[in-house]
Amino acid sequence: MPSYTAPVKDIQFVLHDLLGVSASNIQGYDELEADFTGAVLEEAGKVASDVLAPINASGDIEGCTFEDGLVTTPKGFKEAFGVMKEGGWTGLDCDPEYGGQNMPYVLGTAVGEIFSGANQAFTMYHGLTHGAYSAIHAHGTTEQKAKFLPKMVSCEWTGTMNLTESHCGTDLGLMRTKANPQSDGSYKITGEKIFISAGDHDLSDNTIHLVLAKIAGGPDGIKGVSLFIVPKYIVKDDGSLGAANGVSVGSIEEKMGIHANATCVMVYNDSVGYLLGEEHKGMRAMFTMMNEARVGVGMQGLAQAEAAYQNAVIYAKDRLQGRDVTGAKNPDGPADPIIVHPDVRRNLMDQKSFVEGGRAFLLWSASLIDQVHRAGDADADGLVSLMTPVVKGFLTDKGFDMTVQAQQVFGGHGYIEEHGMSQFVRDARITQIYEGANGVQALDLVGRKLAVDGGKHVMAFFDLVKSFIKENEGDEALKADFLEPLKQASKDLQAAAMYFMQNGMKDPNHALAGSNDFMHLFGHTCLGLMWARMAKAANTALAAGASDTAFYETKLTTGRYYMARHLPATGMHLARIQSGADTVMALDAEAF
Ligand SMILES: Cc1cc2nc3c(=O)[nH]c(=O)nc-3n(C[C@H](O)[C@H](O)[C@H](O)COP(=O)(O)OP(=O)(O)OC[C@H]3O[C@@H](n4cnc5c(N)ncnc54)[C@H](O)[C@@H]3O)c2cc1C
Repeated sequence: MPSYTAPVKDIQFVLHDLLGVSASNIQGYDELEADFTGAVLEEAGKVASDVLAPINASGDIEGCTFEDGLVTTPKGFKEAFGVMKEGGWTGLDCDPEYGGQNMPYVLGTAVGEIFSGANQAFTMYHGLTHGAYSAIHAHGTTEQKAKFLPKMVSCEWTGTMNLTESHCGTDLGLMRTKANPQSDGSYKITGEKIFISAGDHDLSDNTIHLVLAKIAGGPDGIKGVSLFIVPKYIVKDDGSLGAANGVSVGSIEEKMGIHANATCVMVYNDSVGYLLGEEHKGMRAMFTMMNEARVGVGMQGLAQAEAAYQNAVIYAKDRLQGRDVTGAKNPDGPADPIIVHPDVRRNLMDQKSFVEGGRAFLLWSASLIDQVHRAGDADADGLVSLMTPVVKGFLTDKGFDMTVQAQQVFGGHGYIEEHGMSQFVRDARITQIYEGANGVQALDLVGRKLAVDGGKHVMAFFDLVKSFIKENEGDEALKADFLEPLKQASKDLQAAAMYFMQNGMKDPNHALAGSNDFMHLFGHTCLGLMWARMAKAANTALAAGASDTAFYETKLTTGRYYMARHLPATGMHLARIQSGADTVMALDAEAF
């Protein structure tokens, strides 16, 4: 069965050498000294390796069960959830007013990667609760916050997000779930939601569902959608639980992966709901936490890639097949370990350089979210909002690809279940779909985010790249291997944006046919920027006499690989974008 070890040293490198978190002037970052974050990450790593990873494969095999209207999670999940609650992990970055520990989001994201890498299906139970917590925290009344948040922070009550219906996923304006206003200010919610993650289970005493519904008589389409808090059990004024609230589970889905997370059909039958935020502004309320939720899914894609990579490395060092073409490395054995073969190396380097670059991109984006929430930085808000579909779409598309590559290292032994590699692939696959399918992330990026505020935020990104290159152009250690490839990638990205500006207005298909390529071009450029910055950080550490020279040298070598072997993809993406929509849209629908 696969193992998992938290990549504490790599995370520490990003937090401290790259982002310099404790020296940053964001409120709460002064607590993030290396000793402190190291201790938190080590402790999270222990929970991940000792508690969560051991029930990952068994949870996949056993799955959730649904009997007599009740959902049961696999063996060991209840006990593990107890460990998470007792350790205070569920409220790590939550507001202390409601029992949270007030740690910055960047640390919460780093810890999230560790838990998710060990067991994605399990981690979703409190991950979704965090999403619901954030929405209530941002939009709830004082009374709603006092009533629901403390128990959600501690995960005595868990949360869900109910958007999808059978006939509407991306196009939420088609929603049919209804909310009927009542004389006491509450609403009666009636309708059916599908695919609701953690919709029901046996890990908590109550479930606080956040449900999108249309208030009778409101505007048509997406403008008529409002958000409601619908508890499974009514919460009385004294905080104790009252009657069941007409919320039931229709069924749970059989699915490709994340078997241990219950994906439920939820039926609301005149259930009491409380408006969250304003009437008809449900999407706005959802979107304030969408950045976080989408960054969270990007984190999941990356986490599965890291976990799969770790196991591929172990196997590649152990599996004996063939001989090193340059001379035997294991002359006394029947064959050499497969890690000697250049194609296996290429595969592992692809994974390693993506995972480490992706982690830097993820945590940098998380630190921008902290800047928004803790320092009210409007520029950071614009930048992270632009970047969010890239974090979600690129890290999950590539994260999934990397789990497949890790599986490939095992040959046929990766395809059978014994080594657990197929679970990484199956679990990673959903990250490309939920929280907005990746095609829709690309659409959001090109169709909306690029043009926001007259393109100000994408210009800010180009400026970031430009100023980094300018500040470091005299640095010979960076120039050829890092700055030149970054400059080329940034040029490709700008040329693609220019193509959209010149052609997208005439025919929007020209922009949208290139949206997926643009998201990937953008993602690669971001990782190129991260690697260039990490190379600078590694050189700085080496120059300062860091004792762990091997660690920093390895960073530099891994970064060079990314710049040489991943980053040239920007040229291919640009060529595809510039070919426009003609070949994409040439056939009539009947020709397919
Ligand atoms: C395991 C699992 C867990 C989930 N958890 C939750 C949850 O907790 N809460 C919840 O509310 N939902 C949840 N979902 C639903 C998920 O978010 C949706 O499945 C997803 O948003 C896509 O919606 P859809 O399936 O209806 O696909 P559709 O909207 O029908 O889209 C089908 C395809 O068409 C593409 N497409 C659609 N419109 C456009 C467009 N305008 N331009 C370009 N491409 C387009 C999409 O990219 C996609 O590839 C979950 C789904 C699964 C499978």
